[in-house]
Amino acid sequence: MSSTSSPENATIRTDVLIVGAGPVGLFAAFEAGVIGLTCHLVDALEVQGGQCIELYPDKPIFDIPAIPVCTARELVERLTEQCRPFDPPQHLGHRVTTLESHGDDKRWRVSTDKGLVFDTAAVLLAAGNGAFVPQRIALESAAALEGRHIHYAVRETAAFAGQRVIVAGGGDSALDWALALRNIAKRVTLVHRRETFRAANASVEEAKRAAADDELDIVIGTIAALNADGGVLKSVDIKQIGGEVVIDADHVIALYGLVAELGPIAHWGIETLAGRVAVDTSNYESSRPGIFAVGDIAVYPNKQKLILSGFHEASLALRKAYTYAFPEKKRTHIHSSYDQKLSERILGADAKKDLAADE
Ligand SMILES: Cc1cc2nc3c(=O)[nH]c(=O)nc-3n(C[C@H](O)[C@H](O)[C@H](O)COP(=O)(O)OP(=O)(O)OC[C@H]3O[C@@H](n4cnc5c(N)ncnc54)[C@H](O)[C@@H]3O)c2cc1C
Repeated sequence: MSSTSSPENATIRTDVLIVGAGPVGLFAAFEAGVIGLTCHLVDALEVQGGQCIELYPDKPIFDIPAIPVCTARELVERLTEQCRPFDPPQHLGHRVTTLESHGDDKRWRVSTDKGLVFDTAAVLLAAGNGAFVPQRIALESAAALEGRHIHYAVRETAAFAGQRVIVAGGGDSALDWALALRNIAKRVTLVHRRETFRAANASVEEAKRAAADDELDIVIGTIAALNADGGVLKSVDIKQIGGEVVIDADHVIALYGLVAELGPIAHWGIETLAGRVAVDTSNYESSRPGIFAVGDIAVYPNKQKLILSGFHEASLALRKAYTYAFPEKKRTHIHSSYDQKLSERILGADAKKDLAADE
């Protein structure tokens, strides 16, 4: 699929905007192509795959029709491959923030936090439990220091050269960055709330060896206070069992993992139930015409948070979305096995001729 981060301010016109490039959003992009709709995909994450990639990439999945077993990562790869003939543009690292109806033509204007603006006939929310965002340090003082002294990702290692850095967390990212920065920073302290780490064994062993060889420090405890002077971080108090320790620090990189947050969608004037979008099960449309919800974000009686349910929901929602994109046209259903245009698109013109010769 073509990946784009188009920073330009031009409005992008499309038939359907798919919010979320998890498994359901990816299948929806394929299905949109089958039905004859153009679409763009947007995801807050830098990678596609949603929960499958963020939460359990290497776990086996057994309940996808006709695939007896595949890992979550393989499923995402297959879905990406399935979309490829339609090459839907995807905008990763963009969080969809605002939605407004525009004009009398019943279209929608949707914007992202990084300035993309879409003009779309329909919006398909495949946003799972919401956008994945970094779990932040639960201290009021952290917000004012964010970006300068408190970080939730490492963009440029050079920013930490010669600095005293605390890396907080016990997963792969925390250990990988603590190890990577030990040769760049003045001093790295890895802070984790317990003795056991969630990271790969090899990283844990390497971090313990590095600590034993005085290449970095490992401190067990939790961040209790950020001590700043004039907006400049000076030190961090770490609460430990039976006491507290103060560590001099210029930067804290908190890598506690990601949490899902419905965020701006909750303020779009759509009927929600327990943090999810209520839909009509005949077409998975929300309380606002032209706004659909499919996959984990959709709620209705007996809803199952299963990938296969999301596929079905997307398929029905897009058929209704077609009526918004082409109000004047009547769409006739053709089974994919008899759809000449689709077969050319997917198999290519030559393969189509071969098929015809075999008949
Ligand atoms: C450990 C685990 C194991 C599982 N095993 C199975 C299984 O075996 N079989 C099965 O069927 N299901 C399984 N599931 C459930 C399955 O993963 C979910 O049902 C599925 O991921 C839902 O897909 P989705 O596309 O609706 O949402 P998600 O996968 O959650 O993707 C939603 C995407 O939308 C993005 N997004 C949200 N809000 C915004 C916004 N405002 N702007 C931009 N992007 C946004 C998010 O960043 C995310 O990438 C499992 C889940 C877990 C956690």
